[in-house]
Amino acid sequence: MRVAFVYPPFLKDGKIPLLGQNRQFKYTHSGQIKIFPLIPAYTVTMLKQAGHEALFLDAINRGMDGAQFEKQLFDFKPDMIVLETKTPIIKDHWKWADYIKLQKPECKLVFTGDHVSFFPEETLQKCKADYVAAGGDFDVSILNLVRYLEGRGGMPAGIYYRAPVASLPQHAGIHEIKNSGRPMLFDNLDSLPFIDRDLTRWSIYGEAYLYRPAAYILSGRGCGREGKELGGTCTFCIWQHAFWQRRARLRSAKNVADEIEMLVKKYGVYEIFDDNESGPVWSQLWLEEFLHEIEKRGLKGKFVFSCNARAENLTEEKCRLMKAIGFRLLKVGLESGSTETLHRIGKLETVEEIMENVKRAKRYGFRVMLTMMVGYPWETVKDVKLTYKAAKNMMLYKTHFGDSLQASIIMPYPGTPLYREAENNGWLTDEAKDYEKMDMEHDILKSNYDNARWCKKMWNIHKNPLFLMKSLLTLRDKRDWALAVRGVKSLVGHTKDY
Ligand code: SF4
Repeated sequence: MRVAFVYPPFLKDGKIPLLGQNRQFKYTHSGQIKIFPLIPAYTVTMLKQAGHEALFLDAINRGMDGAQFEKQLFDFKPDMIVLETKTPIIKDHWKWADYIKLQKPECKLVFTGDHVSFFPEETLQKCKADYVAAGGDFDVSILNLVRYLEGRGGMPAGIYYRAPVASLPQHAGIHEIKNSGRPMLFDNLDSLPFIDRDLTRWSIYGEAYLYRPAAYILSGRGCGREGKELGGTCTFCIWQHAFWQRRARLRSAKNVADEIEMLVKKYGVYEIFDDNESGPVWSQLWLEEFLHEIEKRGLKGKFVFSCNARAENLTEEKCRLMKAIGFRLLKVGLESGSTETLHRIGKLETVEEIMENVKRAKRYGFRVMLTMMVGYPWETVKDVKLTYKAAKNMMLYKTHFGDSLQASIIMPYPGTPLYREAENNGWLTDEAKDYEKMDMEHDILKSNYDNARWCKKMWNIHKNPLFLMKSLLTLRDKRDWALAVRGVKSLVGHTKDY
């Protein structure tokens, strides 16, 4: 079959949608945020390896207009088109799906993504899409769906589709929505191929805070916690709930080292960004094995490794191992400076623990990107001031060039535990009725303070004279200068967004 995985170019007032590989969707002025869509990249890789023709057409990040996108897609003559969607853009995708089915009625159209994992039937009711592939391992299920359509296997789990109503004659044309059961998570991640970097144009991707050449990987899938059966439980965390069933799986250290060796030797990659929910750092054993693997291959010092991390993992032992491996940047969620808020969102950490662990990581010389949110409906100005104070305190502690933060307004996507809690407590604003308003520009939850003002205030910590001076004094080489230029551009774009 000929299968295209697409991101159609829907811009809004000239702003770019942050869709693929983004947990939080927004339209932005910043052209610096191009995150590599990892599971979609696995999807086309696996299809190609299985002998299908595969096209990866990310028109958003390739800067294509509608006509260029459509020409390339139609020239490819797809038998199947797969697209990833999210709540704020899904209505555009429904309209586009109807348009495509009008142009190419024989072409199968498949929706994936977090929103449709929570509400698979809705999309089949609202547009002419043929299938919804629910759950996070949609790469595996789409490959198996293609096999099924070719008559070479059964329907994989997690697929929603229309079927004629059994009690009515077929010619009545009346359908009902059926499914093949709950999405399954695939146990053996090591058996998946490495992403085909050429097919997926890896080099156009990257974010301002990464050294170049940078490549994204997934060391596993899901937010894990050392020694705990259950992974992260944050009530707003859409992928952990919609995709990973609150579990976590890691690839073996050897398998990840093999991929990194290929990226370094074949593509000259310097920075690896692991966009797994909380990286691999939740497993000390994994870190020990990984250190051994890269030493064996003579890879130490040839690349730097950055990832998301829960603060609780930044213990002395793990920091020591991470330093030996060559970890550079850690993206750590503070979320709020109020422990009461952290408790309410299921973060399973206190502010004091987060601060202590982040400071330890900074003492080890790791760059830290802090992420935090404002606008929790139960918070008062007193709480958001605590968040600001904690963020500023950590940003000014042993500042090194490359430390940064990201502040955003809490977004309760439909389907998450936070959304259900908001419904039950009457916290949703009128804007919450419109999917398209869940784009980080509208207040979806009732807030007791000015969200945009506090976001901007937090972003402005980057402009604090002490922070700037310490950053400049620790700016070392050509790579740092290039990163500084991209960082300033990105900050200008972000500040315009608020
Ligand atoms: S720690 Fe981060 S990745 Fe893990 S559940 Fe919370 S928000 Fe999600």
